[in-house]
Amino acid sequence: MKLELKHSLSLKLLRVVLLSALVVGVALSCGQILFDAYKTRQAVANDAQRILNMFRDPSTQAVYSLDREMGMQVIEGLFQNESVRFAAIGHPNEPMLAEKSRDLMKRPMRWLTDPILGDEATFSTQLVGRSPYSEYYGDLTLTLDTAPYGEDFVTSSVIIFISGVLRALAMSLVLYLVYHWLLTKPLSKIIEHLTHINPDRPSEHKLPMLKGNEQNELGLWINTANQLLASIERNTHLRRKAEDSLLRMAQYDFLTGLPNRQQLQQQLDQILADAGRLQRRVAVLCVGLDDFKGINEQFSYQTGDQLLLALSDRLRSHSGRLGALARLGGDQFALVQADIEQPYDAAELAQSVLDDLEAPFLLEQQEVHLRATIGITLFPEDGDSTEKLLQKAEQTMTLAKSRSRNRYQFYIASVDSEMRRRRELEKDLRDALAQNQLYLVYQPQVDYRDHRMVGVEALLRWQHPQHGLVSPDLFIPLAEQNGSIIAIGEWVLDQSCRQLREWHDLGFVDLRMAVNLSTVQLHHAELPRLVNNLMQVYRLPPRSLELEVTETGLMEDITTAAQHLLSLRRSGALIAIDDFGTGYSSLSYLKSLPLDKIKIDKSFVQDLLDDEDDATIVRAIIQLGKSLGMQVIAEGVENLEQEAYIIAQGCNEGQGYLYSKPLAARELMQYLKQSRRVSNTSTNPATL
Ligand code: C2E
Ligand code: MG
Ligand code: MG
Repeated sequence: MKLELKHSLSLKLLRVVLLSALVVGVALSCGQILFDAYKTRQAVANDAQRILNMFRDPSTQAVYSLDREMGMQVIEGLFQNESVRFAAIGHPNEPMLAEKSRDLMKRPMRWLTDPILGDEATFSTQLVGRSPYSEYYGDLTLTLDTAPYGEDFVTSSVIIFISGVLRALAMSLVLYLVYHWLLTKPLSKIIEHLTHINPDRPSEHKLPMLKGNEQNELGLWINTANQLLASIERNTHLRRKAEDSLLRMAQYDFLTGLPNRQQLQQQLDQILADAGRLQRRVAVLCVGLDDFKGINEQFSYQTGDQLLLALSDRLRSHSGRLGALARLGGDQFALVQADIEQPYDAAELAQSVLDDLEAPFLLEQQEVHLRATIGITLFPEDGDSTEKLLQKAEQTMTLAKSRSRNRYQFYIASVDSEMRRRRELEKDLRDALAQNQLYLVYQPQVDYRDHRMVGVEALLRWQHPQHGLVSPDLFIPLAEQNGSIIAIGEWVLDQSCRQLREWHDLGFVDLRMAVNLSTVQLHHAELPRLVNNLMQVYRLPPRSLELEVTETGLMEDITTAAQHLLSLRRSGALIAIDDFGTGYSSLSYLKSLPLDKIKIDKSFVQDLLDDEDDATIVRAIIQLGKSLGMQVIAEGVENLEQEAYIIAQGCNEGQGYLYSKPLAARELMQYLKQSRRVSNTSTNPATL
């Protein structure tokens, strides 16, 4: 707030002082003027007396000798004085011996002075003979016009009045300046400092002491204010601490320091809102200890508390994968996994929590084994609200406990059994390579210039001892999750390069081998060296090995991906982008990546005859490949109509059931020999 001058204290003081000084000054001046009036009347009387005294003797002489002429001379003498208006000599009982009068003077201030002084004043003195005779002869009478006196009186009154007012003015001005200098200025300074004070940290800026005011009221005021600010800050600090701890108590579990149910609900609300907007999945895991009551009874409650603390620490170790972690109460905890790709991620987390409990807790020098059962719900499948998801997760956990313990259970039975199957597969997958359950099949790729088979794509197969053939779409994500894809991928590369060498040795020297790379492999630093090695070991000519990468794998980190692809290319491999069109990539990134080939995803090829959109996409991809100088291959070509369409659009190569299903190495050899034979005698593609 800014101080307006018109509201300033010094100005108010100036007004008050000025007014009172004026009132006092005027009153005093009036007193003085009254006194002056009185003194002027006196002066008139004195003057009259002096004149009478001066003319008494000649007048006595004139009246004694009854000399009229002499009397007139005396009167004329008297009239020398301009104030004399009337003069007479004579005995009161007889006609006057001599007398003279003149009019009252015309003066401008008469209107004012006449009421005060009277217009004229008459005086007389007795004319008495000398003693011892002392005989009375008559009177000398004199009337004085007061106007000349009045003029002096007015002049001096005006001077008195003006000087009184001026004195009042000067005094109030001096007072104003003094007040302004001593009070208003320092006060304004203090006010300015006060405005800089931060209400949250009031004692951060202390009010500075004003020089010269250390000992007076201002100094005292500043010191007291500073002390007050400091204690306000102390109080606020204490209050804030109390509020914080109240808030903590309301939102966090007292024992473990983890968020409590209420806080979890808030966090989960937020997570679900985000997930709903971004269309992501969320898993809620409710962890219940299997026999915590027994432990409490066996040991003491304090020991039970220690155990819960140790447990919460173990749960915290997963917090990198968690969106929220809370204690629901008693022996129940909740874990929230935000933004998961598939339910399987939740199964993995649940399993690792269970695995984590395998290691015993050390309590009072005794090893204690804790087991837990976990209920899992998924958003959006099992519920769209925090309450529903939490409630169902707890129900699922309780239900699971009643059947058997130390396990996890999904709310939906089918999801649960699917997850169980996947976990089993994942376990089995670890041994699949060592147990020779993996093998490769090869699918031909046809060049549309001459309908010759120019390459094959190596596709991985897993022959599971119980479940039979498992689709790579199912087990490759599992292998990526548990990391075994690295070893499997190396085996696939080695196997396919060795196979290619064999076929080259059999005379099919221009045959090309396409191998699928997982994103995990692509980001593995060893890959370029491995590819380089294999090409050398198997003496493969450059451009005979083609590596297929997927769009999503590249998009995660384009610059690193570009570097990796470049070093792969340096080893002589070709790079193809697989399943093109299914990701969310922008087209501009294509330019910045070193790619040789685009593989149109089979979903577009399969529907292109029925779906105008798919046909448009296929045309656009072929066009794009052409303009970027890349080869285009269509996968999933199943019939001649599809083939005719893509050829008409200028697609370079094709792959699909129209030519062959993926074949074992030996079958492919047969196919190769046969197709070469056919293409040597005929160019009809239908015979392929
Ligand atoms: P992909 O690389 O896009 O392979 C093409 C898939 O389409 C293969 O399925 C193939 O059998 C199938 N296919 C080929 N022609 C046709 C057709 O005309 N119609 C239909 N409906 N399908 C056709 P597959 O063998 O089940 O492989 C599935 C996916 O698994 C592959 O898709 C690839 O992403 C992955 N995969 C296979 N082998 C490997 C491997 O060795 N390493 C890696 N990382 N991934 C692999
Ligand atoms: Mg592929
Ligand atoms: Mg594909």
